[in-house]
Amino acid sequence: MGMNKNNIEKIVQLVIAELKNKSETEVENKMELGIFEEVDDAIEAAVIAQKELVKLSLENREKLLKAMREEITKNIEMLSRMAFEETGMGRYEDKIKKNTLVVEKTPGTEDLKSEAYSGDNGLTLIELSPFGVIGAITPSTNPTETTICNAIGMVAAGNSVVFAPHPSAKNVTIKTIEILNTAIINAGGPKNLLTTIKKPTIESVNKMMTHPKINLISATGGPGVVKAALSSGKKAIGAGAGNPPVVVDETADIEKAAKDIIDGSSFDNNLPCIAEKEVIVVDSVADYLIFNMKKHGVYEIKDNELIKKLEKLLLIDGKTPNKDYVGKNADYILSKIGVEVDSSIRAIIAEVEEDHPFVLEELMMPILPIVRVKNIDEGIELAVKVENGNRHTAIMHSKNVDNLTRCAKALQTTIFVKNAPSFAGIGFGGEGYTTFTIAGPTGEGLTSARSFTRKRRCVLAEGLSIR
Ligand code: NAD
Repeated sequence: MGMNKNNIEKIVQLVIAELKNKSETEVENKMELGIFEEVDDAIEAAVIAQKELVKLSLENREKLLKAMREEITKNIEMLSRMAFEETGMGRYEDKIKKNTLVVEKTPGTEDLKSEAYSGDNGLTLIELSPFGVIGAITPSTNPTETTICNAIGMVAAGNSVVFAPHPSAKNVTIKTIEILNTAIINAGGPKNLLTTIKKPTIESVNKMMTHPKINLISATGGPGVVKAALSSGKKAIGAGAGNPPVVVDETADIEKAAKDIIDGSSFDNNLPCIAEKEVIVVDSVADYLIFNMKKHGVYEIKDNELIKKLEKLLLIDGKTPNKDYVGKNADYILSKIGVEVDSSIRAIIAEVEEDHPFVLEELMMPILPIVRVKNIDEGIELAVKVENGNRHTAIMHSKNVDNLTRCAKALQTTIFVKNAPSFAGIGFGGEGYTTFTIAGPTGEGLTSARSFTRKRRCVLAEGLSIR
């Protein structure tokens, strides 16, 4: 076939040139979708994107948010599967529910309400303006949910975002950012509105937090990262750890309480920071509560030896939760202590003393320790103690308004859920919007677009008051 050496060489060169061209365009596309090698570049790109964003009308900003919600919805199964596989934690089907919740119930620009004062001296307007570039640190336990929720709220408020994903969830977080940026660009928004780096580390988070062009930090995670954010020398929103107690008194609807508690505490294998992490129940109804819990896919451990085995398995040095078991299925954990059950078992319960590490530590495993108390006074006192000053979330099952009020007052938690599973507190089966950044330590509470804004005052004296 008349192909000489020269011709073959030419063809090979053409193919190589074509491939090179292709891979260069791919790299460029990746960068337009916000994924960089270096923190500095990720921040610089976000600075440019934010300036473009604020040129758009609020109506157009809202169009970007709509496109973000739609694009995530199309990819919800894939992202939920990827989060589950990459982190090895939680439950695929619950991750779909959590991702759907953030898409549907994270507020957009409607959250940015202006205030006005008018009178003899004219009109004063207070408007909510963007901070600029926000550094958002996200956890491994809700990697996609927090990224989507923060992206919607922060962009709604007119900011761009540099994300610092948890290293063990970096691939799924990067994928989420790429999907969101694709939606933004296709809806006419700027490229690189959301950025991150390919290989996030603790060092890169710290570099990001101290970078002069980061205007606000939002840290969602355990106590370490909240402390680091608050020590950065910048304004920071800190959404930290919880250890939510659920208190049950003798007036509660015990059958319903049992179901709600198991639904809440086994949701995504207990990963959510708001999930029920220990039960405090008044003695007179304790047996009946346990009896009813066992109707909902629960395995009860009564044997002391087995509890000891579980402690050994799940706690390092008798205290720190072993990460290998965080967010794992109950049947898997049980199999490690020689108990074989089928996958319909979603939670493990065990009665323990009030100072047991399962009660005091935030395990994030489908294990629910139960502590008996003599009466509600003792129950409230213990709930305050085990909540450990996090002031994060608590749940109570009771029909006695005085008891409910006393407990909520004593605990001072950001979220207090009455007679429902914990997730009602973030708008899943409860009224109100959702968030996956619950800022207890810094006081924003359940964050939304307005949490990511600066209040600015604009005064016009001697006019525009029409009274
Ligand atoms: P984690 O604290 O290990 O990590 C969270 C993020 O912070 C990650 O991106 C990580 O890379 C970074 N990080 C951790 N330590 C750091 C440090 N010293 N300096 C800088 N960055 C640091 O948490 P996790 O295991 O991914 O998530 C679970 C924890 O987060 C639990 O304690 C849970 O209660 C909490 N949480 C809180 C909320 C909330 O809204 N309040 C939401 C989700 C999770």
